Amino acid sequence: MNRGILVVGAGPVGLSLAVGLRRYGVKVRVVEKALAPSGQSRALFLWTRTLELLDANNVGAALLAAGRKIEAVNVLAGRKRIGRIELSEIDSTHPYALMLPQAETERILTEQFVRLGGQVEFGVELTNFINAPDCVTATLRHADGSEESFEADYMVGCDGGSSFVRKQLGLSSTGPAQQSDWLLADVRLEGFASLPSELTSFWHEDGFLGIFPLPSGHYRVIADLHAVQGERPAHPDIAQVQALVDQRGPGGISVSDPVWLSAFRIHERNAAGYRAGRVFLAGDAAHLHNPVGAQGLNMGIHDAVNLAWKLAMVEQGAANAETLLESYTAERHAVAETLVTNLDRAASVAMLKNPTVQIARNLLGNVFFGLKPTRKAAAESVSEVSHSYPSSPLNGQDWAGVPGPAPGERLPPRPDEPPMGAGDTPRFALFAARSPAALALQHEFPRLLEPQLRPRISPGTIWLGRPDGYVATVALEENVQQIEDYLRAYVADSSSLAVM
Ligand SMILES: Cc1cc2nc3c(=O)[nH]c(=O)nc-3n(C[C@H](O)[C@H](O)[C@H](O)COP(=O)(O)OP(=O)(O)OC[C@H]3O[C@@H](n4cnc5c(N)ncnc54)[C@H](O)[C@@H]3O)c2cc1C
Repeated sequence: MNRGILVVGAGPVGLSLAVGLRRYGVKVRVVEKALAPSGQSRALFLWTRTLELLDANNVGAALLAAGRKIEAVNVLAGRKRIGRIELSEIDSTHPYALMLPQAETERILTEQFVRLGGQVEFGVELTNFINAPDCVTATLRHADGSEESFEADYMVGCDGGSSFVRKQLGLSSTGPAQQSDWLLADVRLEGFASLPSELTSFWHEDGFLGIFPLPSGHYRVIADLHAVQGERPAHPDIAQVQALVDQRGPGGISVSDPVWLSAFRIHERNAAGYRAGRVFLAGDAAHLHNPVGAQGLNMGIHDAVNLAWKLAMVEQGAANAETLLESYTAERHAVAETLVTNLDRAASVAMLKNPTVQIARNLLGNVFFGLKPTRKAAAESVSEVSHSYPSSPLNGQDWAGVPGPAPGERLPPRPDEPPMGAGDTPRFALFAARSPAALALQHEFPRLLEPQLRPRISPGTIWLGRPDGYVATVALEENVQQIEDYLRAYVADSSSLAVM
């Protein structure tokens, strides 16, 4: 140990991981084959859960200063409103999404990494690696053609959709990759009325159409195309954008002044696993989604946050390495699998062709979005706060049997408390009344528990929260032993009970 972590790829996922590791004092090297940041603004939105998770990395204020809050998503069929999702209904310190071009997210994360003493090595490509039982040996090619061999304790492939690391590991997709073609245009729109804080998506039998306001006053138009077998979609022109908006939108919108037009093919997939020995996959390297829900970048950042505290604990010898590291695939793979299914389901509802079924869908949609609980559930799903790890091997039991988040579920952050996992050491949080038993736990596990107790969640209970803000286990106060048993299961050896 102590050779540190090699992160391959400085996209948003590699950068989020690097910031998390570095903040926890882990030695980390980030290599990026491109010579400079791409500057491309592919992903536009950071959803609620992503903002909550990034708060622990001390980038929340910079993100908020650079972005624009999005408060609602409207769902229409032509001119008819089917529903409206209010993000303000989410119980969160960030009850909104943030519109922030991907290049800006990357800039802010890079600046934070540099502030923490890190450096992104541009023009350095991973060309080979050996995944041995005791270390990873990577071959790195520099822009001048020279090569070096580098040893790391672990390596994480954050190297995007056509991941070299995934291919080398042989971790191809679990199912057939779904292929779909998409058009994306940043344009000016006349005749389209929407608030700058709202997104609009249109359901149409021919496909999806999304219209999102950009800070520049332009709009991003996104639509799926009918895939042409074997050929990549041709570069679009403004007439094609106009035709799609006419066909799938409310009518009367005129499109002009394109600043970016692009058409691309996506192969939706979920890798067979996210770990082989000492090598991990994260972000697009592990899973690729269609852009309907604008979830890809967000999912990747959640991977990075999930992995950062586990790798840090293992590097610092404070925890049971195998259990922690194995839980990464179990948790994140299941979330990606569910997302693929949900996005496919949403796409098939949006694109229903039978007119009678369309009428029924629109009526049901009105009922669905008219009910506060279902509307809230939709908001929690799109904003990723409902993502959870119900089958995680890290879940202890819910011994208390009282209302509240169960093991594997998100603990909503509370405004007057620091974000969970914040600071320079990954620690579990104890939500408990100040009692001799709770203080004894803190005394026994100084390297695993935050030094301060957090106010309890409900009377007579103790909640143990993970450094990424999910519930580890819950017990009644009189059964504090169950919390101790849980923590003991994650301690590597008795020497790690001592303060570092
Ligand atoms: C048009 C478009 C619109 C999108 N819109 C949204 C959206 O609204 N919301 C959303 O959440 N997501 C969206 N996405 C998805 C989002 O852009 C991706 O999910 C996100 O970029 C994934 O980040 P990543 O860090 O995993 O991979 P990438 O951003 O692809 O970064 C991978 C990096 O690894 C580097 N690399 C590759 N191989 C090597 C190697 N061998 N050695 C060293 N470096 C290497 C690459 O140069 C690259 O910089 C969109 C995607 C597209 C294409």
